[in-house]
Amino acid sequence: MRCLSTRGRAEPVALTEALRRGLAPDGGLYLPEEWPRLHPSQWPSADALPEVAVGVLKPFFAGEALASQLPALCAAAFSFPAPLRPLGRGDFLLELFHGPTGAFKDYAARFLAQVWRELRSDQRVVVLVATSGDTGAAVAAAFHRLPGFQVVVLYPEGRVSPRQAAHLDGFGENVLTLRVAGSFDDCQALVKALLTAAEVAGRRMTSANSISLGRLLPQIAYYAQAALGHWQRAHRPLSFIIPTGNLGNALACVLARAMGLPIGEIVIALNENRVLAEYFAGAPYRPRPAQRTLANAMDVGAPSNFERLRHLFPDERALRAALRADWVSDAEIRETIASVWRRHCLALCPHTAVGMAVLARLRASGEERDFAVAATAHPAKFAEIVEPLIGEPVPVPEALRAAWSRPSRALRIEPSLAALEALLSAQ
Ligand SMILES: *Cc1c(COP(=O)(O)O)cnc(C)c1O
Repeated sequence: MRCLSTRGRAEPVALTEALRRGLAPDGGLYLPEEWPRLHPSQWPSADALPEVAVGVLKPFFAGEALASQLPALCAAAFSFPAPLRPLGRGDFLLELFHGPTGAFKDYAARFLAQVWRELRSDQRVVVLVATSGDTGAAVAAAFHRLPGFQVVVLYPEGRVSPRQAAHLDGFGENVLTLRVAGSFDDCQALVKALLTAAEVAGRRMTSANSISLGRLLPQIAYYAQAALGHWQRAHRPLSFIIPTGNLGNALACVLARAMGLPIGEIVIALNENRVLAEYFAGAPYRPRPAQRTLANAMDVGAPSNFERLRHLFPDERALRAALRADWVSDAEIRETIASVWRRHCLALCPHTAVGMAVLARLRASGEERDFAVAATAHPAKFAEIVEPLIGEPVPVPEALRAAWSRPSRALRIEPSLAALEALLSAQ
């Protein structure tokens, strides 16, 4: 399938080329030219996530050389489940945190790594990723020990949680983790500068940030599986509440619904960075600097995927009708973690708590439809926030415990391109 840039000044390219490139040459984001619609007779069985993934991704890959590899790519990328946990009264939790780094970003990072592995030529590829937490670990884990790839992760020293830092620091081998004495913006600026310098020098460098279409498309799979499974059991559409920062995860749900899957409402749940809540309430779109909150992976003041949403819905009224949005304070995040623990004996990460707080508000206003909240990270990753609120330790999955107890291999650098280039050439 052909893909277009949101800015409309780049040539259309085949999906494979869009997956290879990440950003379009005009600075825009790629989107498929049209949305395949799946008639109910074409809906895949909801039993196994890899098969659902193949079923929903196949139309995008039609005519591409990668199409025949799709079952193998999906088997490797979707090798852990996304269970839909019923909480009673039509409330559900869609658990997206059973992957190797305990966050939903594992699905897309692993899919991208599998695709790039298929597309690789003989030259070694350097994958750069600036991270404020979960993305870096997911990308590093997905490419760890993959022959032909070197990953360079940059994160702001002291600005990620202790367990996130332990995870990022422990990879080694083909993953170089850099603790940058600066902010997340410094890390992103370094990645951009290095990519520009590499292009000039003809080196193969690329970035794995959330604007790649290869991070967006695979996420359709778990919404499809949850909605299809619910449809088969209850014969009703399932609505979703999605904790949101850059809109990457929520956009995948919008795309799943556009494909004709049985999805009702889509509500985006924000922390105090409430630009999108104001927009969907009718105000003009006003991006601004991010504010720090307890749900740090959602501390985004200028959501990058808004550009895709606008491209999909050029008419503002149609866009405002497609989604609803609500936002939650840090105090409400704390209250929700405590109250869900009391009611269900269930520990939530702060991001998931944002979604559950929005669901509680909908229920209080009389909403009766079936709603699933996307649980975006494992609560153990944020133990320093969660444990004091629930009064006991959060059990840690074995894979995460092992990842957090590796010795640190990270290096510290000043936020300067010269320092980074010197370090990379010494590798
Ligand atoms: C990245 C992340 C989010 C936000 O996802 P977007 O796709 O940026 O909207 C929410 N929760 C967690 C745990 C994350 O890591």
